[in-house]
Amino acid sequence: MPSLPIVLLAVAAACLAVLWWHARVQQNALTEQVETEKRQNLALRKSLELLSEGVVLIGHRKQVLYANPAAAVLLDAEPVPEPTETMFSAFTRHQVLLGLAKRASIEETLRQSLEFGQDDEEPRSVEVTLAPLGGGRRVVILRDIRVGALVDKRRRDFVANASHELKTPIAAILGMLDLVDVVEDDKRGELLERARKNAVSLSNMTDDLLRLARADDPDWSPAPSLLDLDAVLQEVIDNLQERASDKELQLKLTTDPSCAELIADHFSLLTVIQNLVLNAVTYTRQGSVTVRSFAPTQGVVAISVQDTGPGIDPETLPHIFERFFRGDVAHSRASGGTGLGLAIVRNLLRRMGGRISVRSEPGVGSEFIVELPTNPTRSLPAG
Ligand code: ADP
Repeated sequence: MPSLPIVLLAVAAACLAVLWWHARVQQNALTEQVETEKRQNLALRKSLELLSEGVVLIGHRKQVLYANPAAAVLLDAEPVPEPTETMFSAFTRHQVLLGLAKRASIEETLRQSLEFGQDDEEPRSVEVTLAPLGGGRRVVILRDIRVGALVDKRRRDFVANASHELKTPIAAILGMLDLVDVVEDDKRGELLERARKNAVSLSNMTDDLLRLARADDPDWSPAPSLLDLDAVLQEVIDNLQERASDKELQLKLTTDPSCAELIADHFSLLTVIQNLVLNAVTYTRQGSVTVRSFAPTQGVVAISVQDTGPGIDPETLPHIFERFFRGDVAHSRASGGTGLGLAIVRNLLRRMGGRISVRSEPGVGSEFIVELPTNPTRSLPAG
């Protein structure tokens, strides 16, 4: 028969084992709950990132807890993926919106249409909803209400422009083929050469339309990888050297070793720089085209393409990134231009989180500056 202290000890050990097991079960359940919440949080964050509506969460001290990329675009600010101490009044400079936020009481939901716009764009009507979330927190939802109508109009204009642009070389080719059988033998070669040039225009146009469609496609996204920027710039120079030499233009490259490495989509970056250098070579009659890499600020890599060409007059400058815009239609067509190059450049850069700016002086030359974030997940604010 075991003595009483041994029985008590055994009972105590059994109790401890049960308590330990219970604590383990509870701890596992808690860990699982935390993990589930983390997963749900992430899923919610991802969904908010994909929304075309802007969403800003404001804390009880009016600090910004979260702002999705759409809100950042609409308010011309940086996205806020994690809670910050930045005040809403510092996050956006939109005075009417700030006034609205001030006026709204903590309990009520307020909805109003406001005019938003950046200097180079038409103003946009944005429906703003301010709603309480409890505990003094609020959500601001921003919906671009003109987007639907604008997209329809843009689509119609685009189809009309594209059809017109495709019709021009097709009509020329058909006209020339009709003539081939009726012209004298010595004129035939010249006719076929003109038909070939128009076929090249047609091919350039379809290539650029496909590039533009890809840059616009919401299902496509850039695939960033670690790049040797100097090698990409050298590749562009090599591709266009012959064209520049034919015009006796100097094609120069200067690189900054501090921005030799960049994480970006290789093909998109090549397309962007190649388009800019091709334009510079096309529009410059004499002198040089200089490509230069530099680091303007921490976390940003810039590439400048500078030429000694005719420059762009101030009235034309705001339109050069529009689709199918050509400053000089005849010159652009004759050199194989489609009027889509800069639209493709701007769209690709937006998708890569970058931006482009241009400085130009008629009679002196133009400089296009591309800026890209060194971290592709941190988009630069629109320029
Ligand atoms: P394009 O096929 O006509 O070159 P882009 O979209 O590339 O179309 O450029 C639009 C217009 O911008 C051009 O037609 C031209 O008038 C102007 N442009 C672009 N780059 C330059 C440059 N480096 N120098 C002068 N004008 C330029």
